[in-house]
Amino acid sequence: MAPEAVGSKPTAHPKFSKGKSIAGFPFFYSLVTMIMPDNSTNSSLTDLRDLTLQELTDFIAELGEPRFRARQIFSWLYRPGISSFSEMTNLALAFRTRLEDIARISSLQVDKREEANDGTVKYAFRLADNTLIESVLIPDNGRHTLCVSSQVGCAMGCAFCLTGTMGLRRNLTAAEIVNQVIHTRNELEAKANGKGRINNLVFMGMGEPLANYDNLRRALDILIDDHGLDFSQRRITVSTCGLVPGIEQLGAETKVNLAISLHAANNETRSRLLPINQTYDIAALLEACRAYPLPKRRRIMIEYVLLAGINDSPGDARQLVRILHKLRCKINLLPCNETDDLPFRRPEKAVVEKFQHILQEAGYTAIIRESRGAEISAACGQLANKNNKSINA
Ligand code: SF4
Repeated sequence: MAPEAVGSKPTAHPKFSKGKSIAGFPFFYSLVTMIMPDNSTNSSLTDLRDLTLQELTDFIAELGEPRFRARQIFSWLYRPGISSFSEMTNLALAFRTRLEDIARISSLQVDKREEANDGTVKYAFRLADNTLIESVLIPDNGRHTLCVSSQVGCAMGCAFCLTGTMGLRRNLTAAEIVNQVIHTRNELEAKANGKGRINNLVFMGMGEPLANYDNLRRALDILIDDHGLDFSQRRITVSTCGLVPGIEQLGAETKVNLAISLHAANNETRSRLLPINQTYDIAALLEACRAYPLPKRRRIMIEYVLLAGINDSPGDARQLVRILHKLRCKINLLPCNETDDLPFRRPEKAVVEKFQHILQEAGYTAIIRESRGAEISAACGQLANKNNKSINA
């Protein structure tokens, strides 16, 4: 296990290291850095990482400053290692001091960091209100996928999910979503001498992202802005357990990928596993999927956790083939990740392969996905749930 990084701040990017001659003001820069207080957790100040570029532009305009300042500040906010206004060297000193009085740049504190033998890293981040969320960084052939959380806990109550057992504590702010990406990106870059990068982002951590739509949408704006974190929408996937109105809104307003936690091929089983199915049943969900405006060559990802004796029979596989008819999709089969806290068991390997075979015979791309980082708390909600329980104890 890698050492914990409790309370660590992102490592400064060499280009912006303190004490170097930046923009010709080395002495000023060092002095300002020394006297500026750390306001990053003062919740009475406006967290600039919680604002889209448009919102920041409005904020700056209200201060009577030229609007182009917003773009300057916005691009500073997402550079590696930037944690204070004193580092924004193309802003006048008086303006930087004024910003310190009214605004802040938030960051996340690492409560726990677990690294598996396969390189998967799981983070539990402690938020300002002492709750915990988690993110998982998954390496794969030199590329990295980051799984981010969108809520503290979750109200959806899916029967196979540890996060669901916590209930919903609260929604994450846009800044708390984006800061998961920033912290991990900074750590990767520091480790790989500025060359490590996150290639894909998936909203599959704690929470139902579409139940926190406004903050999700604002976080997406920041993530895809080329002055912000500059992610291609092709590289972002939002996963939902089936909030149909949210799927429609996401499709109308963005071009990100969609993943559906389906997990059953008939309403009876799905309603037992995912209570949301009692509000939006399989027919309504798949209708929304068929209407989702998919760019060419992209497909919806169908997630299907295989639970022994519950949804893993050949009959279930054949039913899945029927209901997915003509849906542009690929299917991820996830053999259940057993835990003492939940009553589900993993199917035999032969059962999983038979299920896959039926889907493939019908022409679907169906991939068996093994849980990464098996020796760490790798299932959704495991690490933060463990820690949230210890907070409450
Ligand atoms: S699977 Fe997702 S939507 Fe369902 S309870 Fe867990 S976090 Fe919530």
